[in-house]
Amino acid sequence: MRVAIVGAGPAGSALAILLARQGARVTLFDDGRRPELLVGESLVPAVVPILQRLGFEEETASFSRVKPGVSFIWSPKDRFSFRFARFAPGVFPYAYNIPRPRFDDALLARAVASGVERVVAHAHLESVTEDGRELDLAHETLAAAPELGGRQPDLVVDATGRARLSARALNISAHLGPRKDVAHFAHFENFSWDDEPGQVLIRRLDAGWSWCIPLQDRLSVGIVLGREDAARLGASPTERLERAIADDAWLSSIAGGSKRVTSVATYANYQLISQRGVGPGWVMVGDAFGFVDPMLSPGVLLALRSAELVADALAPFSKTGATPSPLELEAALRPYATTQTAMLAAWLDLVATFYDGRMAALFRAGRDWMATGSSVLKSAAQSHIERHIALQASGTGTMRRYSRGLLRFMGRYGLRGVEPAEMAIR
Ligand SMILES: Cc1cc2nc3c(=O)[nH]c(=O)nc-3n(C[C@H](O)[C@H](O)[C@H](O)COP(=O)(O)OP(=O)(O)OC[C@H]3O[C@@H](n4cnc5c(N)ncnc54)[C@H](O)[C@@H]3O)c2cc1C
Repeated sequence: MRVAIVGAGPAGSALAILLARQGARVTLFDDGRRPELLVGESLVPAVVPILQRLGFEEETASFSRVKPGVSFIWSPKDRFSFRFARFAPGVFPYAYNIPRPRFDDALLARAVASGVERVVAHAHLESVTEDGRELDLAHETLAAAPELGGRQPDLVVDATGRARLSARALNISAHLGPRKDVAHFAHFENFSWDDEPGQVLIRRLDAGWSWCIPLQDRLSVGIVLGREDAARLGASPTERLERAIADDAWLSSIAGGSKRVTSVATYANYQLISQRGVGPGWVMVGDAFGFVDPMLSPGVLLALRSAELVADALAPFSKTGATPSPLELEAALRPYATTQTAMLAAWLDLVATFYDGRMAALFRAGRDWMATGSSVLKSAAQSHIERHIALQASGTGTMRRYSRGLLRFMGRYGLRGVEPAEMAIR
């Protein structure tokens, strides 16, 4: 099978490796764009088994920092810290914080070493109705890849991230999420720290929230907030980030005296799920298919997981050596698209409980309940609830029906008088 993958981010490179291992002839188009900063620095535990499958954990560990857990700092009295190891073996006991450009370069190098043909070109796709295909590489893109010999590949994979090349070519719309936030972030040195090394800190701010992600030698600090609130902080991304740090006593205690060592990067317009992710002879993976939200960091997991699901769906063709038709490919990949849509929707639901205050209200209610005196039954009930939240937030069981039902139930009936609105993120 001849496969062209457009975009060498985590989704594209991971899929290229898996398909090359299965014997496919893979051409990977890489636009060579290497910004100083890329978001996607904090991974969830469910990523680690995928890194292991790719044979890429050791290399990732060499330039990353182990992430033992996450702390949510909602107010001076409401700090909730979680370590993944507490929920093992159901949850993988750790994750990583990664320098994304380095991670992407290393994964791409791994793809090339696996026999993938890398073509450095900004690719273009076009809508067609030829031989049952719906999407082709544009003429100059096909010409840039001599090993394709001027023949369209059997399968075109859109891994272009938020550029969403195939959606644009085919006019595919998307379900948009409720939030229209903007994020600004940068890297800092000489920062202070008040938690376990590697722990990711999520801080609720007067408007929006901020992340602190410790990398090997730097701290990534980002703010995520509504556009109007962002505009109130200043005219430029730098002014806004600096002002947000100065205005918040806790954030200022961490990053106030630190030195910014990169420019400030900006991202906007996320939270979308593509209405269609597969068609005759083409498929979307990673952000090109959909993206949830920076809260809880599911993006790289969803990108790598989509690569796994697509590779697994194509494995039977590799085994028989048959060249599938565009319609056969679409049929084989349709269950993947259904699963990916459901995963994106499950993450969107989970993330909503952080924004509307239900999750923090539940954390506070649980803590206060345990403080009134513990018993074996109370402890068992509390650990049961926390374990099912951890299963979802770690990426291991985000779609589990029981865990989701329990969270919905507790978010409605288990708050013991704590008002979610009081814990919501504006
Ligand atoms: C504010 C913010 C914070 C985030 N924080 C996290 C986090 O902490 N953890 C996490 O897991 N996720 C996070 N994410 C999400 C994460 O960054 C993405 O989900 C992840 O990068 C998706 O990987 P991908 O391979 O699908 O796409 P990308 O990483 O976007 O890769 C796409 C690649 O395709 C290339 N490309 C685009 N167009 C073309 C073309 N025409 N030709 C050739 N190449 C092309 C691009 O240059 C890029 O290299 C965050 C997102 C946002 C917006």
